[in-house]
Amino acid sequence: MTKNSLAVIGSGPAAITAAIYASRSGIDTTVYERGNIGGSLTEIAHIANFPGFTGKGEELVANLRAQAQESGVSFKYGECTAIEKSDDGFKLKIDDELVSASAVLIATGSEPRTMELDTKKPISYCVLCDAPLYKDKDVLVIGGGNSAVGEAIHLAETVKSVTLVNRSPLRAEKALQDKLKAYKNTKIYENVSDFAPFIEKADGIFVLIGKQPASGLIKDIAAQFDLAESDVLDDCGYIITKDNNMTKIPGIFAAGDVRQGSTKQAVTAAADGAEAAIGINKFLHCED
Ligand code: NDP
Repeated sequence: MTKNSLAVIGSGPAAITAAIYASRSGIDTTVYERGNIGGSLTEIAHIANFPGFTGKGEELVANLRAQAQESGVSFKYGECTAIEKSDDGFKLKIDDELVSASAVLIATGSEPRTMELDTKKPISYCVLCDAPLYKDKDVLVIGGGNSAVGEAIHLAETVKSVTLVNRSPLRAEKALQDKLKAYKNTKIYENVSDFAPFIEKADGIFVLIGKQPASGLIKDIAAQFDLAESDVLDDCGYIITKDNNMTKIPGIFAAGDVRQGSTKQAVTAAADGAEAAIGINKFLHCED
């Protein structure tokens, strides 16, 4: 291991942007991803608010990945299940292998918030993955944020009919709401207290009610530094960082949706990744 290496866990916009910055600073940078390169960005059917880019999430991911590889970043598939302290930095358990790094960036993003529904009908959390299964069917979308409304638009173009229900008024941005309302095969119900009658009529159900941070990896490593869970995670499970995106553990950084204060936009995640990489460079090279 060089004393100049960075392991990035996750491969969304925060992770890849950080990797580009770090690699261009001369840091030996490897991105580890257990699923799809690009994370949840790959599941977004249409991105309209990323400056300089409109199109499918997977296209933006392909651009980011190509740019990172040109900058010298290595990508490796594998699940990081543990981070351990070592004499010269950290050891990461990636599947069955132990790899070393002098700094670690946790950019693991978030995972879908799930919902217990009393039904045997199929429940999906990914529109891009499962929409083709419902081509001539009636689907129900539960949720009222940008994800639910944005993905309902994609469904409206694919399936027979879309019914969107939310427990309160929609909170998605107005432009998205207006776009969804323009589809003739779509109905929207707000302030719904009982989803059962809607579930009854649907062929399939998409639950899009937000996400929760995928922050579990930080717990064990915090204990190795005699830190309590509350030193590294806030009450909602987001990773707490100080200046330069560093956690209370020297050498462990966080960026993107997993970090406390994230605004959960692809563009702000990318900016957060850049900030983290600048902090990592300072940490590794003791610069002001
Ligand atoms: P949000 O948290 O914005 O919305 C969640 C929705 O689900 C709300 O309508 C909420 O209702 C409802 N909800 C939450 N919990 C429950 C529950 N237990 N039972 C029933 N309903 C529930 O999540 P999103 O995934 O839509 O968006 C997350 C973030 O990602 C946002 O900041 C959003 O702007 C961003 N985003 C950005 C995109 C982009 O950059 N293009 C695309 C998609 C999302 P209530 O309002 O009552 O809490």
